[in-house]
Amino acid sequence: AAEVGRDFIRDIIQADLDQGKYKEIVTRFPPEPNGYLHIGHAKSIALNFGVAQEFPGRCHLRFDDTNPVKEEQEYIDSIQADVRWLGFDWGKNLFFASDYFDRLYEWAEKLIRDGLAYVDDQTQEEIRTSRGTLTEPGKNSPFRERSVEENLDLFRRMKAGEFPNGARVLRAKIDMAAGNINLRDPVLYRILHAHHPRTGNAWCIYPSYDYAHGQSDAIEGITHSICTLEFEDHRPLYDWFIEKLPVPSQPHQYEFARLNLTYTLLSKRVLTQLVRDGHVAGWDDPRMPTMAGMRRRGVPPAALREFVKRIGVAKANSVVDVGMLEFCIREELNRTAQRRMAVLKPLKVVIENYPEGQTEELEAINHPDDPSAGTRKITFGRELYIEQDDFMENPPKKFFRLSPGNEVRLRYAYFVKCTGVIKNDKGEVVELRCTYDPATKGGNAPDGRKVKATMHWLPAAASKPAEIRIYNQLFANPSPDASNFATDLNPNSLEILADARVEASVAESNSTEPMQFERQGYFVRDKDSTPGKPVFSRTIGLRDTFAK
Ligand code: ATP
Ligand code: MG
Ligand code: MG
Repeated sequence: AAEVGRDFIRDIIQADLDQGKYKEIVTRFPPEPNGYLHIGHAKSIALNFGVAQEFPGRCHLRFDDTNPVKEEQEYIDSIQADVRWLGFDWGKNLFFASDYFDRLYEWAEKLIRDGLAYVDDQTQEEIRTSRGTLTEPGKNSPFRERSVEENLDLFRRMKAGEFPNGARVLRAKIDMAAGNINLRDPVLYRILHAHHPRTGNAWCIYPSYDYAHGQSDAIEGITHSICTLEFEDHRPLYDWFIEKLPVPSQPHQYEFARLNLTYTLLSKRVLTQLVRDGHVAGWDDPRMPTMAGMRRRGVPPAALREFVKRIGVAKANSVVDVGMLEFCIREELNRTAQRRMAVLKPLKVVIENYPEGQTEELEAINHPDDPSAGTRKITFGRELYIEQDDFMENPPKKFFRLSPGNEVRLRYAYFVKCTGVIKNDKGEVVELRCTYDPATKGGNAPDGRKVKATMHWLPAAASKPAEIRIYNQLFANPSPDASNFATDLNPNSLEILADARVEASVAESNSTEPMQFERQGYFVRDKDSTPGKPVFSRTIGLRDTFAK
């Protein structure tokens, strides 16, 4: 695996340490608890926590819980579980922006007293249109010149709950003609009569992201506040608050490119809608790019860490091929997953020259590159299952698997030859008749004759039924349209094979370790399993089979 690459963020931090600016680096991962974490967040987590591990430092987990309308305890819990699953630990450094509501409020009053903030009675729409555009300056609000006394009185009454939602806001008084629109008197507080998961009904005014974020960083002593590029234009405002307020430290904001992936939308708005509209079975649907979805799908956290390490941290936005993520998953699972056999679409085989009522135990290896993984027994007998796709009655030239008269090897067992085909009244092949060569036990012929195919199989009686779920890309379009994503959904993103068979031990195990089903891919037991009907999800196929 590649070493952690140097990137511009780490270079900045190293330079700051070299210059003695800080003794300790303090970063934070600041999710808003309004949804589940996705793989884009994994990039941010690995960067913030990774930096704190590599340099002397610490990383805080801070919930940016300033908008109670969209935030829920379920998300607070899932975010903590997902950060831990990814392999990072905030120790005792768990914080909530809502813990700072009192201080943020006091500082807002200070801005008012310093003539740097005012209460605006304009509607949201009026504020938006008077803000101007890139080419046109904004217009001053008619309420901009209110006295300090009037502003303080109104702001206190906003806090006391005297006004309905949207009636007034508190705005910073900066410059309505600033080239940077973020400096045109941004909103600091809005009225929201809403229950907050942590502060309950204590507040009916809530700080904006721009106002809360930097001050929370300063309170916590964050040295490097790392965020995504869309906040680059907010940095002058971030710095403005830090300069004007008596904050206890001077954090700096740095921006990096967010992760974008082909065939994937990484936006909580879209992911929320996919769940709400029932396009997927929930936040942890294995097709979702959420960490919960990936965990359920059997993606090892080490594969995600390796992926974000490989893509690196850059200053320019780009789109990463999802094939790179799949490569990392495959590589990790090839190394770690034990091998088993499963037949996804079974076709019955009767070995006519194998004695009726007799069985024997054959030895199968659990991992070809890891002898310590050991072996297991597989029962061979007269009645078996093979994969429907491994048989063709009228094969084309290059088809080397089973066909009438052709001989193949059954993995860990014998050579078998097809001698007959049984069909139903619709003309479909429902059973094969074969013979086996007892001299080929273990898979080689003493006379040196060769076969061109080795196939997986299962014993009919000693295997168990299972449901197998095959996942394809959730979106059929390599660059799905976030504003109209429903039309880009892949109608074949989930394929259910309800009549599959697996080794008995696989069916009976409750392990959630992913396995390789030989020749088929990597699979993991799903939580939808019932005692009589285990369900296995395909994490990923053995090879890149793009694009479906
Ligand atoms: P979304 O746009 O999906 O709603 P968000 O940025 O609003 O995501 P937050 O909960 O605010 O979600 O994100 C927490 C942190 O994760 C932020 O610092 C944010 O910059 C970072 N982050 C979010 N999405 C990505 C991404 N795709 N790539 C890298 N970092 C991301
Ligand atoms: Mg956000
Ligand atoms: Mg967002």
